[in-house]
Amino acid sequence: MSDLVVVRKEGLYCVPGDFYIDPWRPVDRAVITHAHADHARTGHGHYLATADGAGILRARLGEIRLDALRYGESVTHNGVALSLHPAGHVLGSAQLRMEYRGEVWVASGDYKLEQDGTCAPFESVRCDTFITESTFGMPIYRWQPQAEIFGDINAWWRRNAGEGRTSVLFCYAFGKAQRILHGLDPTIGSIVCHGAVTPLNALYREAGVALPPTLAVSDVEDKSVLRQALVLAPPSAAGSPWMRRFGDYSDAFASGWMRLRGSRRRRGVDRGFILSDHADWPGLLSAIAATSASRIIVTHGQIPIMVRWLRQNGLDAGSFDTEYGGEEEVETDKEHEEEKGAGGHA
Ligand SMILES: [Zn+2]
Ligand SMILES: [Zn+2]
Repeated sequence: MSDLVVVRKEGLYCVPGDFYIDPWRPVDRAVITHAHADHARTGHGHYLATADGAGILRARLGEIRLDALRYGESVTHNGVALSLHPAGHVLGSAQLRMEYRGEVWVASGDYKLEQDGTCAPFESVRCDTFITESTFGMPIYRWQPQAEIFGDINAWWRRNAGEGRTSVLFCYAFGKAQRILHGLDPTIGSIVCHGAVTPLNALYREAGVALPPTLAVSDVEDKSVLRQALVLAPPSAAGSPWMRRFGDYSDAFASGWMRLRGSRRRRGVDRGFILSDHADWPGLLSAIAATSASRIIVTHGQIPIMVRWLRQNGLDAGSFDTEYGGEEEVETDKEHEEEKGAGGHA
């Protein structure tokens, strides 16, 4: 039987279904796994995504022709049965299951296994062929349990607040910021969000995700409140005039990349918290094993390392060359645009 999914210049393509998965060039029919900028692009004729992610997709892409599926709900298109299953990455993120003539393929999008309370938890889906991301697909990437990371973040904030110094935590505005909010201890002080983060918080709250109360800088009348506050801002705010109001502050960056030696220094921040919305190395391996797939196709990330390991462990492994990844860089650009568009509004 020929392959159900191939890679074309527009993106991953389901041959019998005649649709694309997270295409990077404009196509007629696109299934979108989640709303990060490298996976969800403008210009497609029709979009299919999860109901949980529909609000964010519309907010980011504007007017689009979007059909939404609930998790687990199935539709048949050109004889291919499609369904979307939680990927545990960000609100609305999904793995796409495709079944055609008894053969099952799953495209993972981005995923993480640890349940974080801000999106539906990852669900493992059995398949014959699994197309997996590999952003952190190297043995050095092993995440600490998130409760420990949040303990560290709250302790850093509490110490700064005790010394009358604002805590500024840089992180990506969509997904990471809301996950951090969910893990903060709001009894320490006020939580202030940059204008790039606030609209995403609103979309999460609309979707029923519990987040602590947050303020915009312009809401803070008594400026002494800022000295005990934690500020969440996108990386592009670092070094911008927006930061001047905080006077003497301590800053930090939260990302999986903080695992890399030197990345904290490169960012020029006081602290680095290793917190990723992607699976670590053991997570990738256990997710792959749980699918029972005999064939694995690796996309963006550490392709050669993953493929070699999988082959050494008896799996039929290959790769697809995609234009995903560098997601965090893409996110930064997008946030920068949003800030410029907002005319410097906080
Ligand atoms: Zn993503
Ligand atoms: Zn990705």
